[in-house]
Amino acid sequence: MTAPAPVTVRVPAKVNVQLAVGGRRPDGFHDLANVFLAVGLYDEVTVTPADTLRITCEGPDAALVPLDRTNLAARAALALAERHGRAPDVHIHIRKDIPVAGGMAGGSADGAGALLACDALWGTAASREELLAICAELGSDVPFSLVGGAALGRGRGELLTPLEVGGVFHWVFAAADGGLSTPAVYGEFDRLTQDVSVPDPEPSAALLAALRAGDVTALAGALANDLQPAALSLRPSLAETLAAGTEAGALAALVSGSGPTTAFLAKDAASAGRIAGALTASGHCRTARTAVSPAPGATVL
Ligand code: ATP
Repeated sequence: MTAPAPVTVRVPAKVNVQLAVGGRRPDGFHDLANVFLAVGLYDEVTVTPADTLRITCEGPDAALVPLDRTNLAARAALALAERHGRAPDVHIHIRKDIPVAGGMAGGSADGAGALLACDALWGTAASREELLAICAELGSDVPFSLVGGAALGRGRGELLTPLEVGGVFHWVFAAADGGLSTPAVYGEFDRLTQDVSVPDPEPSAALLAALRAGDVTALAGALANDLQPAALSLRPSLAETLAAGTEAGALAALVSGSGPTTAFLAKDAASAGRIAGALTASGHCRTARTAVSPAPGATVL
């Protein structure tokens, strides 16, 4: 018998167009109203039969990616193999284009990608519900990486409702030097809000309407990230990056998720190109790239 052919899955990054964060729960998590939008920056995960579970990674940030069983892609393969009573013997290769620890759910993308790729390679034929359940066990952002498009996440962000998007939005993403740890940013959020009463997180009706209408001006006015003050407190230089993008013509600027990647909403593709050029030249970021949204979720190539 010949070995099955390798399977490659492409998975998008995300930006949170609204990230409303509630107070710290007794289990340490925070309730969220998390509006995810998948953007066209992708990792590619390729799985090949192997003697043992092994991970390799290529790309500008590859040195920052763990190659042991803590990698979300490895954890996804292990979870699927265990459920289906088989050995997780697979070589997982990640072509990483999503910034690492950048607040764009790159690790989550690789987890969702490896899950879908192993399912195809092994012929486990898991249902969509089973795949989503495994994703939710792996992490709060992993289910969205599988489905893509746009969605409202409740609970820790893993309870998804798909959202309609009525147009294409043009973005610029500025990667910063070094990452920010998501738990550290939530810790800083807790510290900054310890003396105030944090309201229950609710999705913004104006934001959902802007997405539905594909109205970039309305979306720019409704973008909101409750983690931004915490990310700026831990990384004050991000304020200069945000200002540089706004000066270059962005309709709105915000920290992406827990940062330190910053996101800039542009009027159109030409404006996005100009903003990316200005940000790169400004020296306030490591790289600046354009991307469009919404993007499809994890897809077998
Ligand atoms: P989020 O936006 O979901 O909070 P993030 O984009 O800020 O996440 P990731 O790139 O997902 O951050 O990585 C966070 C940490 O997870 C990394 O520092 C790394 O140690 C670990 N990690 C585990 N698996 C991966 C992976 N496949 N790719 C990148 N990092 C991974």
